Amino acid sequence: MLKINPFKTAMEQLSHAAEKMKLAPEILSQLKKPDRILHVSIPVRMDDGAKKVFDGFRVQYNNARGPYKGGLRFHPQVDMDEVKALAFWMSIKNAVVGVPYGGGKGGIIVDPKQLSKGELERLSRKFIDLIYKNIGEYVDVPAPDVNTTPEIMAWMVDEYSQLVGKFTPAVITGKPLSMGGSQGREEATGFGGMVVLREILKRRGRKKSQSIAIQGFGNVGHFFALFAQKAGLKVVGLSDSKGGIYSPKGMDVKKVMEWKKQMGQLKGYPGTAEVTNEKLLELPVDILVPAALENQIHARNAKKIKASIIVEMANGPTAAEADPILNRRGITVVPDVLANSGGVATSYLEWTQNLSGYYWSKEEVLKKLEKYMIDATAAVVNTSEEYKLKDLRTGAFILAVSRIMEAMKARGL
Ligand code: NAD
Repeated sequence: MLKINPFKTAMEQLSHAAEKMKLAPEILSQLKKPDRILHVSIPVRMDDGAKKVFDGFRVQYNNARGPYKGGLRFHPQVDMDEVKALAFWMSIKNAVVGVPYGGGKGGIIVDPKQLSKGELERLSRKFIDLIYKNIGEYVDVPAPDVNTTPEIMAWMVDEYSQLVGKFTPAVITGKPLSMGGSQGREEATGFGGMVVLREILKRRGRKKSQSIAIQGFGNVGHFFALFAQKAGLKVVGLSDSKGGIYSPKGMDVKKVMEWKKQMGQLKGYPGTAEVTNEKLLELPVDILVPAALENQIHARNAKKIKASIIVEMANGPTAAEADPILNRRGITVVPDVLANSGGVATSYLEWTQNLSGYYWSKEEVLKKLEKYMIDATAAVVNTSEEYKLKDLRTGAFILAVSRIMEAMKARGL
């Protein structure tokens, strides 16, 4: 399959929004380029004494609204176009959810599963040695992403703090609780996504219990499933990398979690039929939630989707080619930049707690997060209505670009 260039996709989405909002060409061309790209070579002493050099990136896309903010990904397929796209999408997402941040993203080309813990720690610390002058709590605030964990964030904060000579927890979010992490961060993205869905359903005035299928049962997918069940939705389909399960009668998410813990997979859960990940997307459900990987919905399967609402909890689960097909078919796509923005909104709450040194309970954090998600959903829906758009993605982009532009103008940029 041809690899879809994510930066090209991101720029097509931007151009589409720019056209609808009649954005001035000079602002569009500014938004098409990141402010700064850092590319570092990271030499690491391996356990066998050999030295290996890894490539590390940090893209600082736009900081009109505040410090650059976005995760760090450790993956063998990390490349510059991917990091640029993700950094751009972070600028959009942070503006949509209304936190005072710009957008950034970083990554290292590495398969962390091939490294020992010591090698991983040395790699993480060395990366910070090389970029520490370009990040900071009011400059650029990284966080975890694919294959990076709270433990890695803790090593990085420790390294940064040693280099600048003071404990600086606000330089990175997604830390363990013992090092200034926030209560509620674990469930934040799934919780936030469910608040968005609830608000969308409220606006549609739907009463009957809705059925839902979720692709991906990791951090985001399993919390989304739990909150969906709590909200009275019927979870009928679930999947992980090993395959999916389906029961039209619905299933108890907590029991499925226990099964997965014991068996290491969802497949075989009693009372369910097996489905492939491809077929899971085409199940006869009201709501479909891709919560695993990019480009799962494309031109070939967009025609076969039966759900009337798609909630994009993964980043970029819908290829650009599928959007017009879904729109034509009247399917509501809740875009990733809104649906999964609960993660970064809670990162913002972690950052404010670090800066003030005053910490909230989980209930307080989730209550504040809920308000961000309600406000962001209303703003995206209202923008889409104002511009008479059929899709929420373009509405979200117009909202974000307007907010970024407002900040750029106010700062005279
Ligand atoms: P995770 O690693 O915890 O879980 C990923 C899940 O996807 C696992 O259940 C895995 O088995 C499954 N999976 C892997 N390959 C699959 C395949 N081919 N088909 C179906 N399922 C497959 O990751 P996560 O943190 O839950 O993130 C999921 C998505 O949400 C990613 O796109 C991520 O970028 C996005 N996201 C996460 C957060 C967050 O706070 N964790 C925030 C915003 C966006």
